[in-house]
Amino acid sequence: MTDAEKIKKNSDGSLNVPDQPIIPFIEGDGIGPDIWRATRLVIDAAVEKTYAGKRKISWLELPVGEKGYEKTGNYLPQEALDAIEANVVAIKGPLTTPIGKGIRSLNVAIRQKLDLYACVRPVRYIETVPSPMKHPEKINMVVFRENTEDLYAGIEWASGSDEANSVADFLKTKMGVDLPPAAGIGIKPISPANTKRLVASAIVHALENGFPSVTLMHKGNIMKFTEGAFAQWGYQVARERFADRTVTEAQLYDQYDGKVPSGRVVIKDRIADMLFQQVLLRPDEYSVIATPNLNGDYISDALAAQVGGLGMAPGANIGDACAVFEATHGTAPKYTGLDKVNPGSLILSGAMMLDYMGWKEAGTAVRDAVQAAIKKRRVTYDLARQIEGAQEVKCSEFAAAIVAQMK
Ligand code: NAP
Repeated sequence: MTDAEKIKKNSDGSLNVPDQPIIPFIEGDGIGPDIWRATRLVIDAAVEKTYAGKRKISWLELPVGEKGYEKTGNYLPQEALDAIEANVVAIKGPLTTPIGKGIRSLNVAIRQKLDLYACVRPVRYIETVPSPMKHPEKINMVVFRENTEDLYAGIEWASGSDEANSVADFLKTKMGVDLPPAAGIGIKPISPANTKRLVASAIVHALENGFPSVTLMHKGNIMKFTEGAFAQWGYQVARERFADRTVTEAQLYDQYDGKVPSGRVVIKDRIADMLFQQVLLRPDEYSVIATPNLNGDYISDALAAQVGGLGMAPGANIGDACAVFEATHGTAPKYTGLDKVNPGSLILSGAMMLDYMGWKEAGTAVRDAVQAAIKKRRVTYDLARQIEGAQEVKCSEFAAAIVAQMK
């Protein structure tokens, strides 16, 4: 075994992953330590079994959140951000948002400071998990949510504040727009550059992973210069950068008799509210979805519910320089230290991380073992209360049951 080394980015954006990569982790607050222990056990076992000891992750702990505050007096030390950037790939548990410490959210701060512009959430059904859908197995989608702008950018002013009054004055005198008295005001910036890099990463994901389409989800019929422009810039980047590997829905019927030419991904767009209906009624027609920040927040959680809830939903925040894989739920403080909760979300985020590193066989080993363990119906409390005939096990026991399923 060689010494631990950093993962590096090649000039074309691909990764150079050594056999013993250093991967920083943030354990997280609340239930973080429980689900991190379980996740580390499963990832290490999958790598060990898949590569027979030839590959091994060298974990590097970063004190962030409450641990960061205890050690450094800072919830999000700059050294931690530097370490993530230097090592390219990292994984994190949930973090408490410190109330009244001047931080809107540690998670949002990490995304913004590292310019992790794509929030990527795969949604796929795990057999035996109860779902409200008749055919949840038809759902196989990946949401690419823009992470840095839109109403989420946090540009807003409270009702009656000097700032809100100044903006209202400006709108009245310079733009001829009258707002209702004492309106709170939020700004929705959506830019061509940020849209294009997000949509390009969604198209690359579809091409590299055999997904048939990328749907641009927007509300452009009403918000023409933000959401409508998002769709136009999405089509534009497909034309500019992927002309020979994509085809629009319109071209498909005008030029190709409705048959997708081999090796091409279909680019289509749907109005947001209509897409919510479509993913319920005809889920097999959608695969990769690219969308602005706020729509992405809603559709990711709705889709997670369609396959059985947030407890098992994995996620990642990915930028050009680095990527952070994370549980999508919060710190569930009432379960802190009880070894009780479901570690599935962080474990499946770990599987995404292995895929991203090019260790796809190990990622598949994790997903297959999670599926096999759940089929045995020995699951954590959240699933046990929904699955008939299930036996409740602790977080650590669930992780051990997953490892036991690895061939
Ligand atoms: P939460 O921590 O996600 O917990 C809400 C409920 O979801 C829990 O009480 C539990 O429901 C269920 N749940 C969450 N994780 C689970 C798991 N692994 N296994 C089984 N059930 C799970 O949401 P919250 O209470 O709104 O937020 C608590 C803190 O987390 C806040 O400080 C918030 O800022 C932070 N947060 C962090 C992140 C992040 O780091 N990405 C994301 C969201 C929230 P039952 O009690 O019904 O079983």
